[in-house]
Amino acid sequence: MEPLNKSLLRSLPKVDDLLKNPSILELMPKIPRTVIVDAVRRAIEVKRQEILAGSYTGGPEDLEQLVVQKAIELSKEEIKPNLRRVINATGVVLHTNLGRALLSCSAKEAVEAVASSYCNLEINLNSGKRGSRYEPVEELITRLTGAEAALVVNNNAAAVLLALGTMAKGKEVIVSRGQLVEIGGSFRIPEVMAQSGALLVEVGATNKTHPQDYQKAITAETALLLHVHTSNYRIVGFTRETTVEELVQIGAERQIPVMSDLGSGFLVDLAPYGLPQEPSVQEVVAAGADVVTFSGDKLLGGPQAGIIVGKRKWIDQMKKNPLTRAIRINKFTVAALEATLREYIDQDNVLKNIPTIRMLTEAPAAVKDRAEKLLALLKEKITSPAQIDLAPGTSQVGGGSMPTAELPTYLVTCVAEHLSVEELSVRLRLAEPAVVGRVQDNKYQVDLRTVQPEEIEPLADVMSRIINSREGTGR
Ligand SMILES: *Cc1c(COP(=O)(O)O)cnc(C)c1O
Repeated sequence: MEPLNKSLLRSLPKVDDLLKNPSILELMPKIPRTVIVDAVRRAIEVKRQEILAGSYTGGPEDLEQLVVQKAIELSKEEIKPNLRRVINATGVVLHTNLGRALLSCSAKEAVEAVASSYCNLEINLNSGKRGSRYEPVEELITRLTGAEAALVVNNNAAAVLLALGTMAKGKEVIVSRGQLVEIGGSFRIPEVMAQSGALLVEVGATNKTHPQDYQKAITAETALLLHVHTSNYRIVGFTRETTVEELVQIGAERQIPVMSDLGSGFLVDLAPYGLPQEPSVQEVVAAGADVVTFSGDKLLGGPQAGIIVGKRKWIDQMKKNPLTRAIRINKFTVAALEATLREYIDQDNVLKNIPTIRMLTEAPAAVKDRAEKLLALLKEKITSPAQIDLAPGTSQVGGGSMPTAELPTYLVTCVAEHLSVEELSVRLRLAEPAVVGRVQDNKYQVDLRTVQPEEIEPLADVMSRIINSREGTGR
């Protein structure tokens, strides 16, 4: 070993001394001591390795400061939460990988109110006796949907599992071949059916299923006619699906209940805002379906939940199924769902206050305002050569809902001269706040439909910081 290395190694600061360094002491109230001590040890080790590898270029007198800097960086990295907020610049409103629906302010406040307080989750404050956790939302759901009874479980996949297991365990369930859908990876109708203990009876063809197909398939073992809303894809052209109304008619003749899995059930008509005409939960209930299931965090715009509405006879049986206990909702879901549903009492509030609905129905001109604001800020802040433009584009509903809907939107597109589009995308993902946008046509694209007004400034800051800096990601 060269003498220079030896003297550098000897100059490496000691853990105990570093723990008295003012910059390190400053971290103490905010970061656990054990994390800091560990970071200091690792920081010394990093510098030791640099010295041994001959890549350390500073002098012995710089070592303490460099180790301190590294230790601060490592400490901060260590306490950074693994789950953190992300600016959604994809334009996909119900982005399942980004957590689907944003809660309304009222829902957020309702969650906060019960988070670190006790609440009357299962106690009836009038009688002082045991109450049901479903009570706060049941009445609202039945009022809004017109159904006799309601139950809420962890998510819609669980709702379907519970409904099938309760209504058709060991019996046959008839489903159209055109409705044997897969919804995001692990939820496939045939597999959920197998899990529930019900036996799948497929009828019709991929593109066409007629009422007679169901009628012919009915046996003494038939327990249910299932209609699945093929929410995430469309078969177009020579097609025919049997409607819920037709199934209800067949079911009535043969005394067999009908269930409709709506997936992204919604309570307000979005067709006036340019979205596809699809049946609402109320319409499917009114059509006579015995049981209807839908998600809480798709078009309803609430917390993750699976909402089951329908005839009291079936809902009561589901409540008694032991599976219900395993997939029950927690107090946060009850709080957020109640507040979300209360917004639906007045339709004007829905459009204003439910972020999902607000984003889906927002006029392109309003999105353009935000795009122009971001564009102006970027032009002001970015000093490195880059091409920043405003362009029209299309946003998607997402969450497997309304796959054919194209929402006109505005994008801010960005190409930096010294940074590839891929690299820019990676660095924005790793930044604070993290940003997830689109890479298309060799441009980084920010779709303003899903960027909230208060996120414009932080977004401009983080984008300009990355484009202006010339360091690599080290990846
Ligand atoms: C999304 C969806 C589900 C699953 O709902 P989760 O709330 O994601 O569990 C089930 N069925 C249909 C038709 C869906 O669209």
